[in-house]
Amino acid sequence: MKPIPILLYHSIADQVAPPFKKWAVAPAAFASHLDYLKSHHYRPMTVSQLVDSTENNSASLPERPVVITFDDGFADFYTGAFPALRQYDFTATLYITTGYIGQTSRWLSREGEGERPMLTWDQIRELHTNGIECGAHTHHHPQLDTLTTTAAHDEIVPSKLMLEHYLRQPVTTFAYPHGYYSPAVRRIVQEAGFSSACAVKHAMSYKGDDRFALARIIVAADTNTDAFARLLAGQDLPVALKRERIQTKGWRWIRRSAKLINQRRLTP
Ligand SMILES: [Zn+2]
Repeated sequence: MKPIPILLYHSIADQVAPPFKKWAVAPAAFASHLDYLKSHHYRPMTVSQLVDSTENNSASLPERPVVITFDDGFADFYTGAFPALRQYDFTATLYITTGYIGQTSRWLSREGEGERPMLTWDQIRELHTNGIECGAHTHHHPQLDTLTTTAAHDEIVPSKLMLEHYLRQPVTTFAYPHGYYSPAVRRIVQEAGFSSACAVKHAMSYKGDDRFALARIIVAADTNTDAFARLLAGQDLPVALKRERIQTKGWRWIRRSAKLINQRRLTP
């Protein structure tokens, strides 16, 4: 079966605080990734296009599909990623934390990045108009699987409604902050009316995968062209997958403990 890489980026920037460094890909490196995709005939799709195409028999997948996703909604998507994507005529899916739009990334204060500017509504509307799919990423970026059902609902549903209100269009895809979810969280996302949701997992995706737990591969700061090619080929992923299993399942009870909750470094 054809493997489909769903890539996960966060920030496109040169200057970041050291604890956040892993999550910020330099603009030059990002351009080299896009160049690699172009020269190797990859066809970027949005998450919703991928889900439609794998679930609907009438829509077939391109020969070399790839999905480029961005989490959080940092303003550097507009200044750093969007111009490069446009240059290559590539689309992407952007997951937006709605509670910080037009403000700063206050939930990253502990990583020294609480002042990172977030996208404004005007920028989000422009991105949407220009073919960037906008999905929801909760309102305040919590670890959803540590919340009560009511609290998780109150993070998931308003983020969808707010984006729909400003974009005047249904918002159909969601990404779990930090990649963390539980059966209850997955059910809330489904019942909210989303048709897909992205996790992390560090694995390739395939036709027939659970569309409410799509696997993504993190593209970290030190991903040079060779490493990028290996990611796209699905190399070096099983080890990371094993680690992810421990993080998301075995350690959930630890993260639920208020005492220890902020002591681990998480995916932003
Ligand atoms: Zn996030």
